[in-house]
Amino acid sequence: MRERFQLKKFYRISDYQNSNVSEFPHLVSLGYDEILAKQVQGNDVTLSLLAHLDGTKSLGEICDILSKAHKISEAEIFLQVRALIDAGLLLPEHKSELLSTEEIIRYDRHLLFYSIFTENPIWHQEKLAKATVAILGVGGIGSWVAYNLACCGVGRLILIDSDFIETSNLTRQILYGPSDVGKSKIEVAVNRLRNFNPFINVIGIEKKIQNYGDLDEILPEIDFAGIDFIIQSADKPEKIHFWLDEFAYRRKISYAFAGYIEILGVVGPIVIPDKTSCLMCAEAKIHDFENADLKAIQDRFQAPSFGPINSIVSSFVVLETIKLLLGMEESQLLNQRLTYNFLKNQIDYEPYPKNPNCTQCGRKND
Ligand SMILES: [Zn+2]
Repeated sequence: MRERFQLKKFYRISDYQNSNVSEFPHLVSLGYDEILAKQVQGNDVTLSLLAHLDGTKSLGEICDILSKAHKISEAEIFLQVRALIDAGLLLPEHKSELLSTEEIIRYDRHLLFYSIFTENPIWHQEKLAKATVAILGVGGIGSWVAYNLACCGVGRLILIDSDFIETSNLTRQILYGPSDVGKSKIEVAVNRLRNFNPFINVIGIEKKIQNYGDLDEILPEIDFAGIDFIIQSADKPEKIHFWLDEFAYRRKISYAFAGYIEILGVVGPIVIPDKTSCLMCAEAKIHDFENADLKAIQDRFQAPSFGPINSIVSSFVVLETIKLLLGMEESQLLNQRLTYNFLKNQIDYEPYPKNPNCTQCGRKND
């Protein structure tokens, strides 16, 4: 009876006459949404009980108050509390050995969000606090990805980049401002994220990835065995997607791709080694130019990049990452990728099927 519960704060409440059941003359309706809507049969005590269930009083204290005010037994009140708990309407008091009180206050709205689909949202927050996500590239996509993961309280972020901040980055790279131009992206990103969420551990690795071996060289700097997920958002050099694909696949780390092509935002596929297709399943289209003029033109290539598309792509990939880290339902980005078309405001899924002859994940490698 010392436990404290509170009615989930997102419930809006209406009180109707329940003429069918004389014992319970009230029909208390909570929530409007299809997922949230609940109805509870109640008597004169029910509304008072719901009003007292604000998380500040123990069940014993509430029973004491209501039994005196309404002249009913504590056992009857407790039965109603039990029914409310069973209906998923109440949240237990947030207790955590991992998270501080300040963190619990900080994540309050996220905890409320998790409570829509889980009985003890604090476990979700703790899972995120224990998770590690590495982000390859903290530019247009990666800076938003890191920011969103920091919002959610993912406990350890590893950022990998070697670029310096340019004025043309400021339209879309959320972690940088005009006074940062010329500075190292890693240095500024790490400081900004640590300042934004001091409860997470942000590690920056300033390293130019120019070949597969460069990824291997990062190994001594961080414990790759402890990485739960990698998000690949670097766009140069062109082969970096395949290096990361091979690197993470060999180490059995799940990973996702996020980027854009002209007016399309592209999210995925998410690769879970030994389960889904990998990037190598599709034929690689890498441009190697021997002709000097062609190479010179190719070297000038600059992809168009639009801030809001960077933002939406990053949100999609982070949402899927969070669901994976929390062990929720299977991602929609396995064996397919999502595209967002700016002109049509349309989301489509493109198949990215497993190729039985894939040199990396195909049958002969089983
Ligand atoms: Zn494959």
